[in-house]
Amino acid sequence: MKRRMTAALLAAATALSLGSCGGGIVRSEDEFQKAMHQSSTSRLDAICEAEDGYYFSLETLKGPFLYFLDKETKAATILCGKPECPHTDDTCDAYLRVYELWTTGGRLYYTHYDYEERRDGVADLGLRLHSVGTDGKSRKVVQSLELVPGGDTSQRTARPILHRGQIYFPYSGVLYRAPLGGDTAKDAVAIWGSEIESSGGVEIGGMTVAAGDLNALGYALWADGDLVYFMVNLPQPGGTCRDTLFSYDTVSEEVRQVWEVPGPDEVGRWGEEGVSVDQWYILDGFIYFFLSQNGLWRQSLAGGAPEKLGDVARDVPYGTGIFSDEYFCLMNDVPDPSYGNAVLTFGTGPSLVYGDAIYVYDLTGAPVAALDISALYDELQGLTHCMPVFCDGEDVYFVAETCTVTGGPVTEGIWTTPAQKTYTRYLYRAGIGTGELAQILSWT
Ligand SMILES: [Zn+2]
Repeated sequence: MKRRMTAALLAAATALSLGSCGGGIVRSEDEFQKAMHQSSTSRLDAICEAEDGYYFSLETLKGPFLYFLDKETKAATILCGKPECPHTDDTCDAYLRVYELWTTGGRLYYTHYDYEERRDGVADLGLRLHSVGTDGKSRKVVQSLELVPGGDTSQRTARPILHRGQIYFPYSGVLYRAPLGGDTAKDAVAIWGSEIESSGGVEIGGMTVAAGDLNALGYALWADGDLVYFMVNLPQPGGTCRDTLFSYDTVSEEVRQVWEVPGPDEVGRWGEEGVSVDQWYILDGFIYFFLSQNGLWRQSLAGGAPEKLGDVARDVPYGTGIFSDEYFCLMNDVPDPSYGNAVLTFGTGPSLVYGDAIYVYDLTGAPVAALDISALYDELQGLTHCMPVFCDGEDVYFVAETCTVTGGPVTEGIWTTPAQKTYTRYLYRAGIGTGELAQILSWT
């Protein structure tokens, strides 16, 4: 109890020091940014929204750089104001490797795995939270996101989230929260998993989950108002796993199981029966989810049957979807035929290719627009895949990736030099109301 109070007080102090409004008013940028957590493409997945635009990180051949996309001009610029900087190496103000990116109180926050060279070798400092000014300057270490720096024993699969001044993060299979700017080792509060770790196994949803399962469980974190959610892949009889959603009430601190992925008896056949939903989004007590070859659904987290929304699967049987508070946008990319009789894997990545249209629906499943982007396949030589990143209500943003092959496998003696593959990525937007297609920037 004492620890809880300390955490609450620190959270309040942090909120004040960050210039938050008092009187229980929560600024929108202090809320978990749902639409910014939709990208499953590793090409552009660290992105956050500020009042006037979006900050994001691009991994290029010259290194990782931060960019800003202006909401008004819809143009992107590198986050470096250094005169005559060529933006090509780590002397650039925008040079920054980030895993997650948030903004609050006029600064950017990001996570990074830190190592430090010491006299007796390299010290593993683990995952830490840093902050940087929106000009790329004044970088600071904020706090560790590990209870013992560098001590995480799990394969970290969940990405931390920031919601109302608290960071939610996994550490060694246990889910924690800690106040932003606090001392994690002292202030972190375990939300879920510690019971499993200490008792060696607990009953969840009729199954015994052992401590050893925790590394495989993973979490996909989410927040909506007073509730923080985490999706867990619970082991099932027969060796499969099932997406199961829990909620954590930030006021009462109660954890409840609120949903699990429906079976074919509830929704009919779909591409990955009883395993994982392809994309999901939680808004106002409902979970919206897309099932490959089956369509778009929603279900109340207070109970009740799943409800099919429109006839999305008729337009797009496969695809990669992104949600916003208004829309579900589905790119019609398909499993890569070079993988043979491809099984869709969780997320997208290299197992999907093509994509030449984006279908936009409102959250009742009614069609809003079908955006034809097939002209890009004529314009961009070697275009292999288009992948959606986020939707801001006006535009759908997506990455187009081209691959050009030069040279060929050359064998000299025992050495074979493979063909050189060069990937170029382009950030595009497609106007939902206008159908306008515009290139924002490109990188290699
Ligand atoms: Zn620069």
